[in-house]
Amino acid sequence: MVRMLIVTILLSSFTVLAQDTVLIENVTIISSHLREPKQNMNVLIDDGRIAKITKSKITTYDSSVDGSGKFLTPGIMDSHAHVSSIPGMGFGVEPVSRKHPKLAEAYFEQQPNSFLYYGVTQVLDPNPGLNFNHFISATNHPDYFRCEVITSEQTFPYVEKKDRKSRSMFTYLIDEKALKNEARSAERVVQKIAQSGASCIKLYFEDGYGNASHWPLLKPQTIQRIKASAEQQNLPILAHANALDMQQLAMAAGVDVIAHGMWNWGQYSREQNISEEIAQLLEDMISNKVGYMPTQRVIAGLGEVMRPSIADSVEFVSITPRALLDWYKTPQAQWFKQELRAGFDGMPDESIADVFLFGRTRKGSQIIHYLKESNYPILLASDFPGSPSFANQPGLTTFKEMHALSDAGLSHKEVLAAATINNAKQFKIDNDYGTVEVGKIANLLLLDSNPLRSIEAWDSIDLIFLHGRPIKRQSLMVKNNE
Ligand SMILES: [Zn+2]
Repeated sequence: MVRMLIVTILLSSFTVLAQDTVLIENVTIISSHLREPKQNMNVLIDDGRIAKITKSKITTYDSSVDGSGKFLTPGIMDSHAHVSSIPGMGFGVEPVSRKHPKLAEAYFEQQPNSFLYYGVTQVLDPNPGLNFNHFISATNHPDYFRCEVITSEQTFPYVEKKDRKSRSMFTYLIDEKALKNEARSAERVVQKIAQSGASCIKLYFEDGYGNASHWPLLKPQTIQRIKASAEQQNLPILAHANALDMQQLAMAAGVDVIAHGMWNWGQYSREQNISEEIAQLLEDMISNKVGYMPTQRVIAGLGEVMRPSIADSVEFVSITPRALLDWYKTPQAQWFKQELRAGFDGMPDESIADVFLFGRTRKGSQIIHYLKESNYPILLASDFPGSPSFANQPGLTTFKEMHALSDAGLSHKEVLAAATINNAKQFKIDNDYGTVEVGKIANLLLLDSNPLRSIEAWDSIDLIFLHGRPIKRQSLMVKNNE
């Protein structure tokens, strides 16, 4: 049961007005519905949608783009990105970002451009918090869909937030203790979420990071009630779960999408390969068509932030405000690294980085590989920024997640599908998105290189079409970064 994600777009994303007709001439179309790329095609966009695709000459149009030698693909969808969260600072309401309002503002101003710079034209945000207005009020921004979080004062992620302001980001708290508290019952909260225009519900199955298990979970009866109400309201449920036992609980609860890769398994048994127990869970996922979001960049972001050179990454210069890059090098900005170190008992930074980059990432890759072998459609979902790590920057993280899928064994064709049609189908928006076909919203990319030949081709963007309007990639770079 997944409801169409249309509502949010109608409410929030039509800042781009109806356009004149635009012709893309003599281009090679690359799209998951085609067996082979289609060469020498003319694509006419009218009123923000694809109106005609033909080999014949089109003579009536308002403006044209020469597509000779170039490749036209659907825009990318990242189905797990948090636009209220600032890399290195946490959510905009948390203490570190409150201390640096100017940096937060500069960041939020650039963020939608950074996603578009990397070709991301749709995002699904599973925990929008309170700052997503920055995003949807920008002149140019990817089409925005959101889930809302249901948690309680006793469970994650509420329990992890220490001050009132940070806790205020949870608008939909239920109260499991007071059964008579109508306003905070499972049914009432689900109803409020549906009325807010959200497209889905996010539930957390998290009893502690890594091997820890000190946080309580919502009671099974509560989850059943949420599930029943969500079905009535046609809201799919995304489950935060990244350990084997937590994903088993989420599957038993009947969720629609597992919103994280399975990184945490075999810590005690020294097990290095997929066991029968894991295979069973994955087979359940496949037969029940439960979506799977690998989110490999969460783990990579934890590893990379431990490397001192990360703030000097060349890619950051195009998309991250200079003042924020400078801040990343200050002692204050190292707070999250200190937290990570505390969990590793004096281990050197480089070894901590390896635990994430080689250990847990490899486990996630094995799961991806298993699903790929079963032809199961993987979703492109980065969980940007994934943690308060500043190693993950908007858009770039989505691009790197595509690399991670490729590293785990997906073919270029499978990465294309993960980034486009698989997400569109999973969230029932494939009437509007996911392929280059007549009738669909013209969120498209014009690339200089062929993405069926290399993943790097996704970084060779010439133009981004947003509801039919061409935007030069260069114009999306962060300003005043000299
Ligand atoms: Zn997330």
